[in-house]
Amino acid sequence: MSLPAHPPPGKRNSTSLRLGLGLLLVPLLCLAEAMAEEQMRLQLRWLHQFQFAGYYMAQEKGFYQQAGLEVDIRQGGPGSPPALDSLLAGDADFAISNSGLIIAHMAGKPVVALAAIMQSSPSVWIVRADSGIYTPQDLAGKRVMVMPLPESAELRIMLIREGIGLDQIQEQPTSFNPQDLVDGKTDAYNGYLSNEPFWLRQQQVPYRLIKPREYGVNFYNDVLSTRRELLQQRPEQVEAFIQASLRGWQYAMDNIEESVQLIHRRYATDKSLEHLRFEAEELKKLVMPELVQLGHMNPGRWQAIAEHYVALDMASGPIELDGFIYNRKVETDHRLLYQVLAGALLIVLVVAAIALRFAHLSSRMRLEVGRRREAEEKLLCSNQQLETLANTDRLTGQWTRRKFEEVAQQEIARAERYALDLSLIFFDIDHFKLINDQHGHEVGDQVLSGVAHRIKAQLRQSDCLCRWGGEEFIIFMPHTDLAHACAIAEKLRQLLVAEPLLEQISVSASFGVAQWHRGQSLSGLVGCADQMLYRAKQLGRNRVECLTSVSASPTP
Ligand code: GH3
Ligand code: MG
Ligand code: MG
Repeated sequence: MSLPAHPPPGKRNSTSLRLGLGLLLVPLLCLAEAMAEEQMRLQLRWLHQFQFAGYYMAQEKGFYQQAGLEVDIRQGGPGSPPALDSLLAGDADFAISNSGLIIAHMAGKPVVALAAIMQSSPSVWIVRADSGIYTPQDLAGKRVMVMPLPESAELRIMLIREGIGLDQIQEQPTSFNPQDLVDGKTDAYNGYLSNEPFWLRQQQVPYRLIKPREYGVNFYNDVLSTRRELLQQRPEQVEAFIQASLRGWQYAMDNIEESVQLIHRRYATDKSLEHLRFEAEELKKLVMPELVQLGHMNPGRWQAIAEHYVALDMASGPIELDGFIYNRKVETDHRLLYQVLAGALLIVLVVAAIALRFAHLSSRMRLEVGRRREAEEKLLCSNQQLETLANTDRLTGQWTRRKFEEVAQQEIARAERYALDLSLIFFDIDHFKLINDQHGHEVGDQVLSGVAHRIKAQLRQSDCLCRWGGEEFIIFMPHTDLAHACAIAEKLRQLLVAEPLLEQISVSASFGVAQWHRGQSLSGLVGCADQMLYRAKQLGRNRVECLTSVSASPTP
């Protein structure tokens, strides 16, 4: 009868792990090509069965060969020395062991745990369903068929933790034959999740399992191990062996049926396909490839396992794990890390280059915007200056004809819309030519300017004074009727003659006044005022003529 089954430790059966393992293997494969194939002997702890699937698949799929290794996989079984003994004796380079490996370590044996394939032990108590035994306590006083230590450590520890002393059970050496359970020769049988239950089902014997894990005892199983000196002398080969083996395990977990077929054909030829499938399903639950990285070992768990062995007097303290747990070389991980870092650096550089380019463009754009704004401001300013120049008479500082026409048109439109009064005074300096002639053109200019300022000073803010041309001026008066405008004209006429300009030059002017009427154009209004001005000149100058609604007749 074959025995336990142990799966590999592993976590992601996922693409990422496959990719990771693939990447990790690349440099190892390169290394392997440069070397002659290394002979390696792997000692299994029991007969060929699915329990060792990962190693078979590493062999069959050429993973060992690609790693430059030639591996001899040797089965164990009844009559063979324990795998650990073969390892320590130098008859094997690697061995599959259970958690008892740490007992050897604590006893000073130079063993190293490389990878834990099964994250939980498959060891269980198997009882018949009609036995009335449900819990570890129910085993008190019962006949219990138990394997030798350390194989049975988890089961014994579970009993002790549940308050059942080992002297309270009737311990029987195992017959390795579950038929004894069926025949009632024992009450509880030390078996494996992946093995005897299948056989009992075939026999149609109802059974029940008492599992240590459910009582807080959780041991690693099927731990890949080696001798310390081998690790020291050939670290690359040991690492290559681990990687190729884990790759095999990943393959086996991902391809259960193919692995079952192959194991049935080449290795466990005496086991049925059905049995191998059952074994595979049960072991996969213990390997937990979806949850745990294949081969994973936690120092804390090894510490707890060691404490259980010490409590059972199977090992003596103090517990020292140094040198026991292999620290995986992760050169290839570094390669991956470097690749990631290089990629990240490249991205940072590209982003920085783009940012710099943007910053450069942005500062250039800011400069350009500043330049344009400045130019616009200058243009605006010069436009305003041009407009001021165009609107202001340079000699007198009053509005030009152009500005007058612009404003007067708007005022006429307003007066039209709101029926407002609006009047216009047109005046011309009398005999101005004489002033020029007598005092010179320059003085003439000063007189022109003086007249304009004197007149302007008398006007309301709403009135507009405009130099029409030469020595002719127009006063435009919104909200003003004819009578009011005539009065203003008269006042201005008197003002001019009242006092000489430049303290010596007396000037007078003639004034024509007209009031706008609805529908009249600006040129019509100016023309009317001009007519009145003409009349004032005709009638002797220095006078005001107003255009009444009926006829044009002079005022005083
Ligand atoms: P009236 O009483 O009929 O208006 O006689 P007037 O001499 O004032 O009229 P006239 O049209 O004969 O002459 C106007 C003069 O005004 C002629 C011109 O030289 C002078 N004049 C026109 N513009 C300016 C100017 O900007 N500066 C100076 N100094 N003289 C000017
Ligand atoms: Mg004149
Ligand atoms: Mg004139």
